Amino acid sequence: MFEPIFDETNPETLLEPNAVQEEQTFDVTLRPKRLEEFVGQEQLKGNLDIFLEAARQRGEPIEHALLYGPPGLGKTTLAHIIAEEMGVKVRVTSGPALERVGDIASILTNLENGDILFVDEIHRMNRVIEEVLYPAMEDFALDIVIGKGPSARTVRLDLPRFTLIGATTRLSLISSPLRDRFGAVYRLDFYTPEELARIIRRSAAILETDLPTEAAELIAGRSRGTPRIANRLLKRVRDYAQVRNGGTVTAEIAEEALEMLEIDRSGLDRTDRRILTTIIGKFGGGPVGLQTIAASLSEEVETIETVHEPFLMQLGLISRTPRGRTVTVLAYDHLDLPRPPGQANLGER
Ligand code: ADP
Repeated sequence: MFEPIFDETNPETLLEPNAVQEEQTFDVTLRPKRLEEFVGQEQLKGNLDIFLEAARQRGEPIEHALLYGPPGLGKTTLAHIIAEEMGVKVRVTSGPALERVGDIASILTNLENGDILFVDEIHRMNRVIEEVLYPAMEDFALDIVIGKGPSARTVRLDLPRFTLIGATTRLSLISSPLRDRFGAVYRLDFYTPEELARIIRRSAAILETDLPTEAAELIAGRSRGTPRIANRLLKRVRDYAQVRNGGTVTAEIAEEALEMLEIDRSGLDRTDRRILTTIIGKFGGGPVGLQTIAASLSEEVETIETVHEPFLMQLGLISRTPRGRTVTVLAYDHLDLPRPPGQANLGER
């Protein structure tokens, strides 16, 4: 029996940037295993294909690679796909999980030749760990300090020839020495509604749910360009159909379910709309700093910066200026508010 994963009374969990714990099982079920199943990101896939093929032909492990882009676009999925395509194992960890030098040392020394070490949220790794990684990435060596004070000495251990794949939502927070040690840097972009509809249909088939094309398109249009959100919405629509319509998903049922989740036609949720109304209502439309917006909404700066802002910018509802964020006339239109004097005739929607 299928158990709903989310707290139905809390639409906010929909945008939780990282997979919540129970969701991880679903993520694994729905995650494409091979590059050819990975929908969209055509340019990246083309480049990656050559990168992998070249390494295969030379019989060498691939170079270290950095994946960046907003949460839920497929960075972790790609790291697993790369391992699968190269026929190697992948060890998964994250920047915040690596607290002590011992943590990274034990992971590195337990890798085998060719293995992939995937470090999610690599921008949140502390400096000391980062410095251990430099010789590890460059020379496949680990410098360990033994003893303390004047008698301390450094011992160099050889490491297997591993590949580090880092993922980040904040490329600007990666120091340049670290960034320079990646042989390839790939950017993931938001997906088009057509690509999301394909992902949704694929997931529905895996979940054995009949999904009419219009329902898939409807969900796709409200998924903020993000496969993780598309899959979440699909599951919520499926729950709703199960409880209200004997399990049959129709476009009307999907529409009702999305309405209940307070997701509007453009895919904006309550927090997105609150960001816009706050900038307009409290700060005269901006410019206003991100910290100030976050404080007045009692939200985390990082959530606004990584989850909400990129999407609002993508829709052209806010813009970033050196003095802070401003809303555009489209934001007034979106909220059905009168445009400010002097901007009434700017770019129609
Ligand atoms: P990230 O690591 O960037 O936060 P994930 O790789 O965990 O994102 O992706 C979240 C979920 O979205 C995955 O479980 C997978 O089911 C789905 N997904 C992501 N990218 C794709 C894609 N290109 N095609 C199909 N499904 C995808």
